[in-house]
Amino acid sequence: MAKERAVKVLIDGATSDLTFSYLAPESVDVSPGQRVRVPLRNRSALGTVTEIEWVETDGLKYRLKPILGTVSDDAFLTPGLMKLAEWIATFYLAPIETVIRTMLPKPSRGEEEKRKKEKVVELLATVDDALLDTFGARQKRHREALRILAERGVTSLQELTSDLGIPRTALKVLEERGLIRLADRIVTRDPLDSVDYVESAPLVLNEEQAAVLEQIKASTARLESGEKVRPILLHGVTGSGKTEVYLQAIQLAVEAGKGAIVLVPEIALTPQTADRFKQRFAKIKDRVAILHSNLSEGERHDEWRKVLDQKARIVIGARSAIFSPIENLGLIVVDEEHENSYKQDTVPRYQARDIAVVRGHLEGCPVLLGSATPSLESWNNVREGKYELATMRLRIDDRKLPLIRIIDMRNEGRKSQSGPTILSTKLRLAMEQRLAKGEQTILFLNRRGFARNILCPECGYVANCRHCSTTLTLHRKEDRLICHICGFSQLPPRQCPECSGRSIVNAGYGTERVEEILRQVFTEATIRRVDTDSMRKKNELRDTLNAFRARKIDILLGTQMIAKGLDFPNVTLVGVLNADVGLHIPDIRSGERTFQLLTQVAGRAGRGELEGEVVVQTYTPHHPSIQFARHHDFEGFAEYELALRQRFLHPPFAHLALITARSIHQERAEFSLKTLHARLKRRLPEGVTLTEPLPSPLVKSHDQWRFQIVLKSPGARLLARHIRETLKDLTFPEDVVVTVDIDPYSMG
Ligand code: ADP
Ligand code: ZN
Repeated sequence: MAKERAVKVLIDGATSDLTFSYLAPESVDVSPGQRVRVPLRNRSALGTVTEIEWVETDGLKYRLKPILGTVSDDAFLTPGLMKLAEWIATFYLAPIETVIRTMLPKPSRGEEEKRKKEKVVELLATVDDALLDTFGARQKRHREALRILAERGVTSLQELTSDLGIPRTALKVLEERGLIRLADRIVTRDPLDSVDYVESAPLVLNEEQAAVLEQIKASTARLESGEKVRPILLHGVTGSGKTEVYLQAIQLAVEAGKGAIVLVPEIALTPQTADRFKQRFAKIKDRVAILHSNLSEGERHDEWRKVLDQKARIVIGARSAIFSPIENLGLIVVDEEHENSYKQDTVPRYQARDIAVVRGHLEGCPVLLGSATPSLESWNNVREGKYELATMRLRIDDRKLPLIRIIDMRNEGRKSQSGPTILSTKLRLAMEQRLAKGEQTILFLNRRGFARNILCPECGYVANCRHCSTTLTLHRKEDRLICHICGFSQLPPRQCPECSGRSIVNAGYGTERVEEILRQVFTEATIRRVDTDSMRKKNELRDTLNAFRARKIDILLGTQMIAKGLDFPNVTLVGVLNADVGLHIPDIRSGERTFQLLTQVAGRAGRGELEGEVVVQTYTPHHPSIQFARHHDFEGFAEYELALRQRFLHPPFAHLALITARSIHQERAEFSLKTLHARLKRRLPEGVTLTEPLPSPLVKSHDQWRFQIVLKSPGARLLARHIRETLKDLTFPEDVVVTVDIDPYSMG
């Protein structure tokens, strides 16, 4: 009886987790994770091999068809990643095919892996006087070309012709004589290749840092002797030297022949952070790969290729870098582990920090989560003994944490006659002092644009987006009203469209307006604004930060782009213009976010020899988030907030699932969700609760009406299973899209 080798293939675009089997002759090299082309009905399709199997083909009713061929020479996904994909699909209720697609950079998913090539010139002869003498007096360029090639080896055609001025006709002659050959070479697009990295030596660790490194070493040793370990949560105050600990732990892993992944939030992945890693491991070219969303598709692919080929053994990247195909992992670091940007808001809606923990568990590698303001999820895991705690309480060289002053803006408002006060007297004076001393200031405001919205004081008209249930923000430079949800924009009306009143006013303020005011108040200062509107060009952020570091800028004003991870020793003042933005959003995490943001922003001050000061402007000075941040009291805040969450059984004491139905037809979205609600209620597992179907907080977005149900459960798996089982038997009208978000971070 003949057994034949077959493969199970998951076809691209498949919405169910069904695989198809195909024969794979033994002459073809295939393994799980490899991309293949297969026949499907009357066409051909691409897919990913999930399993190799040996099948008894004699008794089969249908003869299995053979695969048409492989798309890549190697498997794009490691066995560890294949397992992880399954885990994610189950936990987050996502089609496994979508999960796999998420794991691969775009250009590698296509028919053929797109690798950029360039033409190069190769020398085929030995260049000596005898050869050179065969060229006539008018063939100077021919001789020169040969000399250049002899000296440099393989050279790009572009360089020879444009930079070195060798005419193409000369190369043609050399080619015809068989002295040179034109060939293709794969070009690697390194986003940072213009930078020359000088190796930075490891610093001598202080006591606290050394203790944490020992803790990581102990974990590694336990893993090597076959024991299980818990993830380590490193709670280290801002400026305590967490990055240096990461660097040295990675070095140990690399020296042991292992690889490492470092996750950083997208906005903290500044050139400054990337450089620190590149510099430390500069000795081996390409050792470090950087993955973030500002790379072009080509650059991204090439960085990923370096990892797949195991040339790069260290990956620094945002969320999706957790899927890097690194084999033999020795460490996963998640920096700023509390950051919400680790949560993906499209399918699969995974939380990269949680995936890091799962991957570490599946692949037997230590996981280090670091933050000055740990998430309450992680902090509670420490309390429950699921995570190990490591603590660094002191700043490097015993530098003091900055003094935080709270300014009650209600009083400022009473003093001034005209409109809202943006700069309090105290903050303005503090800035003047810094300017006089040549020290630098960072000002933070989490809102871009000129005015939050525009309104008519006569009839109460407010300019709203016609596609979303939200107001339009005025951007003065472009002279447009812009929707920050869908991007819709229109000209600002000169008079009220409702009552024709002529006194339309700007309400609230954003960074653009603050910049204008700063320029009026501090006429002598150099001021730069950093937000997504002002930093559009490729290297603009890098250049601005470098200029700030070189002290060419006195005042840096920005949104969350400047809140994280920056380290400038000459910054002695940080101002938070409106600490209340975000505090009054109906969201269980709004208090936590405000505490984190204030602590992180404050952490940018006083990182050098000079002491730092922080001025926080607020209308709610007694809010616990603000008060605990003021006293640098993370533990106090965590205890306070966890007690509240426990009382209402909010996360981390329960898991939530947010189910949203959306459609351009309001009634259909609402009706579909009501049907689903009734079904969910029918066989509700014990301990699971659910809300009534309600309009989402943003009831209309991108022309779609949105309604939602929130489920709550002590266990996430139980919740996912119940929703999956219920959805399986339901179909919705074509225009209705139902989405499920397990452990949501935004309540819609
Ligand atoms: P964190 O990530 O905890 O905010 P960093 O790692 O950015 O802190 O460190 C803050 C500063 O202290 C950096 O400039 C870093 O180079 C410096 N630093 C870190 N560890 C040491 C050390 N052991 N000795 C001297 N300087 C250090
Ligand atoms: Zn809109």
